Amino acid sequence: MPSKRTLICGGQVYDHEGDVHKPAVADILIEDDKILSVGANLASDDVHEVIDASGRLVVPGLINAHYHSHDVLCRGLFEELPLEIWLLYTLPMGADRSKDEVRARTLVGALECLRCGITTVQDMLGLSPLNDEQTDVVVAAYREAGIRVVFSPMVWDIPPIGMVRHKDSLPPAVQEMLGNKPRSIRDQLDYLEHQFKRHPAGGTLHWAIAPFAPQRCTPKMLQGCAELADKYDLAVYTHVYETRGQVLIARELFADHDGSLISYMDNVGLLGPRLNIVHSVWISRREIDRMAAPMRASCSISSATSNSRAALPQSTTCAKQACVSGWVATTVAVPTCRAYSRR
Ligand SMILES: [Zn+2]
Repeated sequence: MPSKRTLICGGQVYDHEGDVHKPAVADILIEDDKILSVGANLASDDVHEVIDASGRLVVPGLINAHYHSHDVLCRGLFEELPLEIWLLYTLPMGADRSKDEVRARTLVGALECLRCGITTVQDMLGLSPLNDEQTDVVVAAYREAGIRVVFSPMVWDIPPIGMVRHKDSLPPAVQEMLGNKPRSIRDQLDYLEHQFKRHPAGGTLHWAIAPFAPQRCTPKMLQGCAELADKYDLAVYTHVYETRGQVLIARELFADHDGSLISYMDNVGLLGPRLNIVHSVWISRREIDRMAAPMRASCSISSATSNSRAALPQSTTCAKQACVSGWVATTVAVPTCRAYSRR
């Protein structure tokens, strides 16, 4: 296939090694998906398309490091709810959608990201049911949008109601609505492995492993995720300490692991260079130090803007502590919907 050359000309091209406050004007010559050269007044012979970027800043594409496309159609709903209650509404809403709805929410979210300059999105997707058909719809929609995706359908084996206090006092119908059915570990890990083979990583598609959160996964599930990540050389993403309530859950339910979700993940073999902990607003200094131990230096914290408002001061403190410890990479993610930022 003949190659296609594109010239982006006359923009201020951001260079981290150069003047970051007033980047120099330059042209960028691209062949297919590779940048051939950056410089002043590049020749435009054999160029198929010229894009005039004068008066604009040209930067590398932004990366949305934490995102859920299943929440796109929930935007603007349940604005004032704390996370624990918000999840009880939105998790069922994201499940069992039609193929058209799944396609629409994936495309809408992808296009919004692109409009904001985001060219890579890490979609930690709550896909229900977890099957080939729904997966195909998501993969096809991302290809259609043209955005790069690090795709990680979430897995868990402890149902949502497992984290609800006094759950046994709720009527059976309410328990069922909130989600009281565990999922098979083997079926979910087999599903992931099957998808890695059906849609091999390449081009704009990448895979990752996403146990929902440590408190929603038994040790066997987390170990299975760690093994799969090693086998396919993949990153792992999981939610950790999004709210104060989750700290209480850790102290109470994980007393055997020092009351710490970080210790729990360490003890079952998930803590390591592949692991990215998401939100992590209420992580303690002691836990950061534990993550900073030798061989765990690549763990990162996604400090999402959805940590904003109520949780921002704590989020900032967390990121500062992590940076001081000299090991952590902080990233920025955009909230899937506004309600998600309120807790
Ligand atoms: Zn999330």
